[in-house]
Formats: sequence, C-alpha cells, structure tokens
Amino acid sequence: MSVLEQSRHLVTEIPGPRSRELAERKNGAVSRAVATTMPVYAARAFGGIVEDVDGNRFIDLGSGIAVTTIGNSAPRVVDAVRRQVGEFTHTCFMITPYEGYVAVAEQLARLTPGDFEKRSALFNSGAEAVENAIKIARAYTRRTAVVAFDHAYHGRTNLTMALTAKSMPYKHSFGPFAPDVYRAPLSYPFRDAQFSKELATDGELAARRAIEVIDKQVGAVDLAAVVIEPIQGEGGFIVPAEGFLGALADWCRNNGVVFIADEVQTGFARTGAMFACEHECLVPDLIVTAKGIAGGLPLSAVTGRAEIMDAPHPGGLGGTYGGNPLACAAALAAIETIEADGLVERARRIETVMKDRLNRLQAGDPRIGDVRGRGAMIAIELVKPGGVEPDPELTRALCAGCHAAGVIVLSCGTFGNVLRFLPPLTISDELLHEALDVLSDVLANL
Ligand SMILES: *Cc1c(COP(=O)(O)O)cnc(C)c1O
Repeated sequence: MSVLEQSRHLVTEIPGPRSRELAERKNGAVSRAVATTMPVYAARAFGGIVEDVDGNRFIDLGSGIAVTTIGNSAPRVVDAVRRQVGEFTHTCFMITPYEGYVAVAEQLARLTPGDFEKRSALFNSGAEAVENAIKIARAYTRRTAVVAFDHAYHGRTNLTMALTAKSMPYKHSFGPFAPDVYRAPLSYPFRDAQFSKELATDGELAARRAIEVIDKQVGAVDLAAVVIEPIQGEGGFIVPAEGFLGALADWCRNNGVVFIADEVQTGFARTGAMFACEHECLVPDLIVTAKGIAGGLPLSAVTGRAEIMDAPHPGGLGGTYGGNPLACAAALAAIETIEADGLVERARRIETVMKDRLNRLQAGDPRIGDVRGRGAMIAIELVKPGGVEPDPELTRALCAGCHAAGVIVLSCGTFGNVLRFLPPLTISDELLHEALDVLSDVLANL
C-alpha cells in the first residue's frame, strides 16, 4: 500500500480536468437520479484524506457517510480481506456456511447493550437490515403496525421509504408505500424550544407527547415495533432531550412492543460509545447496524433478544449475499481496530475539539443556531439571524465553499440547513483544526 500524505493540497481547479472528463462519462452512462455531493472522482483515501484523480487532496469530514469510521483502507481490514479473498469469495451462508459469519454474530452479541442471550442475522445494507428487523418484530408479536418518528431516515426500499420522513428526495414519485406505518413526534430540543422550554429539556414530557399519539392513533395491541435512531442522522443529527428514549423504551416494554434502535449511522464508536444507546443506558430489544461495521465493505446486521430473533420460522430470513465472507472478515478486523486502537476514546476527543471550536464560532455568529451531536457525529444548524428560520441557501453555499477549498463536508436535515461532520476517527487533530479553519473562513466570507 502506498502512503497517502496527510495534508490538504489543491493542484488544479475543482473539479480538475480528469474529474470533469469522468463526470461527462457518468452523464452518458449513469442514471441522473444517482447524484453526487462533490464533483471530484476519488483515486485513493487513507487516514483523514481523500485524493482525487487530479492529485488534489481533501480533508475528509464525511467518511463516505459514517462508513469509514476506522479510516479508509484501514491496515487490519486490508490484510483480513486480502487473506479471505484468496480462500473463497462466496459460498452463500444458507448453503455451505462459514466461520466468519458466526464470529461476527458472536462479536455483535458481546458488543451490543443488554446482558441476555442474543442472536444476529447479517445482511448487506442498512435498509435491508431495518426491513428484516420489522419482519422479525412482526413474526414475534403477531402484530403488524410500526411506528417511526418525524425527521426519521431508515432507507430507500419500499418499507424503509415508508418509515423515512422526508419526501424530497427520498420518496417523491416512488409511492405507494408500505401500509401500517405511523409517525410520532420526535424530541427536537432546538425546535421544541420555540414552543416550550420544558418540552425542549424534559425528555419524558416529549415522550408523553409521542406516546399519546401512538396510543390513540395506532394502539399498543396492534403495534409490533417502534423504530428510532437514538441520534437522528439524515434528519439533522438531532439528539433527543434526555429521558425521551428511555421513556419510549419503557412504554414499549410495558406494552409488548418491540423497541428497535436503528444504529446504522450512530453505531461502532461513532458517537464516543460503541453504540449511541449506551449514552442513556438504553437496552433495545433489537439493534440494527451497518455503515461503520466493516470498514467500508457492505455488511449490516440485526442483533437482539434470542426469543425475538428466533421467532421467524427456519429459512424465513436470509439472502444470497447476506454476511458475505469478505465483509465478515472486514468486520472482525474493524472491531479489532476499534478496540485495539482506542477509537471510542478518540471519538470523544474529537467531540471536545470540534465542539470547543464550533461553540466559539457560534458565539460570534448568529447564523449558527445550534451546535450539537456526540463524539465524531457533530453538526451545526444554520438559521436566519434572530430566530430559527432555516437557512438552506447559506448551508449550500457553505458546503460548496468548503468543497472548493479542499474539505469534504455533507449537509442534512429535514430543512436542508444542517452541516454535519463525520470525520474518520483516524484523522489527526491538526487536520481537524485545519478543516475548521477553512469552515470559519468560508463562513466569514458569506
Ligand atoms: C444510512 C442509513 C440507513 C440506510 O442504510 P443503507 O445502507 O443506505 O441502506 C438506515 N438508517 C440509518 C439511520 C441510516 O443512517
């Protein structure tokens, strides 16, 4: 493996000539519906840097949407995949099974919250795992209704589109959607504060508001599962008020409803804990993981209480590629990397560095309405000064400015006004500070 220099370095205009050439080819061959955030084509990536085909080096504050949490081409992952690819690439676990799949399930049982017998099933994408979690909850409860929340994102398949809140771009023109899916109000402290200070700070109060909707509009006796992201991702990195998740989980337990935590984006050290549920000592019945699980290889999982996971009939769950041997080898190496390199602690340190800088920036800039998040999952919400009116134009301009200056940042949020930071945990403090310097400069000039 060639060493990629860990520095921001722009040698052409952005995008450069080779990226522009590839963009031409994309337009002639790839559906326009598959859009890209950045106009540059990747050639190599390592540590905190992505290098494009023109030799420009960008500071990576995106990790390919929270996937390369342990860094791109992490050495242990590269070794493990190299070893596995020479042994066998696929047999299908449902035909002739293999140890890697079992070992990943054992690791998931060890790492996820809850001191009880657990089982796992492996899949390929986050959406596929969320769908399977719902299937499992329905088989276990013999009920059909499912509740998701405002601002939720759970994927783009038919059932997960129904669970996802935002129409554009995820749902528009793609209906009809799966039936028996209901939506409850979330705890969104920054916006709830506009209505009531109490609602913004008292998570149990916000949970009572949600539970009333669930109880009256769905009814516990028909409800199979409540699915929630402990910190919402695409919806805007929304950290619910303390106590909200716990009160919901308690209500689910008391009513025989399966509580599903979608930790696809928050899992695997991202938030300064192995799983975001741990911040509130929350023990979900089922936990869905993907993104950061395998250092960039496609893998996802549903893990949870053995009696729930074993409810569907033998042969009821599976898929040709689920738990692919290369992805399993990568996941075992990724987990080893997180633990051996202290990456949970590293995520906490990144939170300190980023929040310290961003809070100071906010103190002098009324366009930054909120700084929030945990670990290496931090965001700023941009508003029109003096209120909470979202400013998606400013957000777009800030993103574009950072991209042009060599920093990869992503936006998110129901209102398109949240700038989110998801650096790989292997990024140096130096690169992190440099990226935040760029952000401050771009913002100051807008
Ligand atoms: C990305 C994401 C998904 C969907 O995962 P895919 O692998 O894109 O299907 C589901 N839930 C959450 C919270 C996500 O962030």
